[in-house]
Amino acid sequence: MTVGVLKEPTSETRVSLLPEHLATLKKWKVDALIESNAGASSFASDDKYAESGAKISDRNNVLSNSDIILSINPLTDADVATLKPGAVVLGVFQPLFNASLIKTWAAKGLNVFSIDMIPRTTRAQSMDVLSSQANIAGYKAVLLAANKYPKYFPMFMTAAGSIPPAKMLILGAGVAGLQAIATAKRLGAVIEVFDTRPAVKEEVMSLGAKFVEVEGAADASKAGGYAVEQSEEFMQRQKAKIAESVAKADIVITTAQIQGRKAPILITQQMIEGMKSGSVIIDIASSTGGNTELTKNNETVVHNGVSIIGNSALAGDMPSDASKLYGKNVLNFLQLIIDKEGQLHLNFEDDLVKGSCMATNNEVTNDRVKALLA
Ligand code: NAD
Repeated sequence: MTVGVLKEPTSETRVSLLPEHLATLKKWKVDALIESNAGASSFASDDKYAESGAKISDRNNVLSNSDIILSINPLTDADVATLKPGAVVLGVFQPLFNASLIKTWAAKGLNVFSIDMIPRTTRAQSMDVLSSQANIAGYKAVLLAANKYPKYFPMFMTAAGSIPPAKMLILGAGVAGLQAIATAKRLGAVIEVFDTRPAVKEEVMSLGAKFVEVEGAADASKAGGYAVEQSEEFMQRQKAKIAESVAKADIVITTAQIQGRKAPILITQQMIEGMKSGSVIIDIASSTGGNTELTKNNETVVHNGVSIIGNSALAGDMPSDASKLYGKNVLNFLQLIIDKEGQLHLNFEDDLVKGSCMATNNEVTNDRVKALLA
């Protein structure tokens, strides 16, 4: 059996597998076929892949000779037309925003696995690409803010005068938010944090940040590790509290997301107008609409001297480690669908295989995607 790795679109710096991951495929008696230059933006050359036992080929060859195709981003129509019948495609396809694409792929007879949809259970942690990539995004968001911010993060008492510490506000203490707290703390910022999940309060405090509580959030304990939408009344009370913290903050990092929905607006234009000139907002929820009224995805908006940077692709700014962790997540998942003889074995009794499968046997299988199509 052959696993093929595609070169991603030009906007993507990551790659599904690095040369270091190929030894595991070899151990499973699985061949690796890599599109030429697939790893170039992650600093993995064709020679390195070849030294690790892979064959290097052009895109058409990879598509037409692979049983499992790995591509972080969705394939094009031309790609799909070139695939082997019944091939497995595995990537981060955001099916809740791309339901019609899943329908098209189902009709072509593909087995579509979107690893971003894997159930967030303990067993799935080693395959959780959302977590591995969000961790990087949280870290990079703080570094980006530190670069843009025209002042120091840490407090200094020097002969030339005193510098107060930067005040940071973090909205959303999920994987990215927690990593942002840890990184900003190391740089000496003073940090306040909001999240709708009270369970996260202890983690926030143990990282040395202040958790600002707003009572009465909707219970998300049954949402499989994701946040849920809040009532209008809660959002109003939360906004009033957030406004107080925004007015004091020099840097805001926003990470609040709700799976399959538009991101909640937590910061209004009026709040931004109350911030000091030179302040910085990094919105990593920008690809799903952003957490501020002024966010534009993949753009920096400057409003009254406040820079609002909308970037949900920060993991791609650290492509070597992002690909290293993504590739390990992928290998852990492949172990579920490749048997001891190195053959494809799709066991839909396994909740992780079932949960991440979007289409098989010419049908869309995921209930939420089906509901969107209906
Ligand atoms: P996410 O990226 O979907 O959202 C980021 C954060 O925004 C979440 O903490 C969420 O509660 C918060 N948020 C949503 N709406 C908000 C609002 N209106 N105001 C303030 N905050 C809001 O989440 P994520 O980082 O992918 O994961 C969240 C949590 O899920 C993790 O911290 C973890 O506890 C759990 N998780 C479990 C597993 C697992 O067991 N396999 C894996 C990953 C995450």
